[in-house]
Amino acid sequence: MALPELPRIDRLHLAELTLPDWHPRAADGVGQVFAYVVHHPDGPIVVDTGVGRGSSLIDELYRPTVHDLVARLAEVDVDERDVAAVVCSHLHFDHCGQNAALRAPVHVQEAERAAAVQPGYTVPEWAALPEERWRVVDGDADLAEGVRIVATPGHTPGHQSVVVTASDEVAVLAGQCAYTAAEFASGTVAVEDVHDRSWLDAALDSLARLRALDPTRVVFAHDRAELTA
Ligand SMILES: [Zn+2]
Repeated sequence: MALPELPRIDRLHLAELTLPDWHPRAADGVGQVFAYVVHHPDGPIVVDTGVGRGSSLIDELYRPTVHDLVARLAEVDVDERDVAAVVCSHLHFDHCGQNAALRAPVHVQEAERAAAVQPGYTVPEWAALPEERWRVVDGDADLAEGVRIVATPGHTPGHQSVVVTASDEVAVLAGQCAYTAAEFASGTVAVEDVHDRSWLDAALDSLARLRALDPTRVVFAHDRAELTA
């Protein structure tokens, strides 16, 4: 069911990464990592939790500047103890890194949990949580009034996005379904951004599904730019 009006959705700037030469976006130099909070009437919903701390591998590869999720939430008047739910778009290191800083259940696709055990996929400690905090989703699922998890595989096997629907507005928290707002607008994804080449069709289908919702606002995990209708 749709909400009477769209709740406030705030961007949380959680990290800056220095992109190594082999990274598909190396030409950008710096990569930005954003999470979001939906100020839902039943309690705040956090989408992605950024980069964690203490991984020598990530420090060496990306020299990250990490911002605390809890502090960023406080800046937008959210006490981390009040967070009702967390959604991880996927379990790469820059989307689940501060899960442990919150207490709320974490929603993730079953396919993503399966993928995340592969060596080199993520920082295992950041993608690990006590079993009782996981809420494993298989496909689309309603999360709260007007809030739906939509499976958008492609960037990873279990990537998911969040759709917030009000009477006359639809906001899409795309995650990394598209890397940039421009890609979303044109309905394209770069092959370097999909899990592997065999996932390209799935990635394009996922993007088409989100575009078909005719969103009035779309926000992204790695692009400060957003789309508005
Ligand atoms: Zn990713």
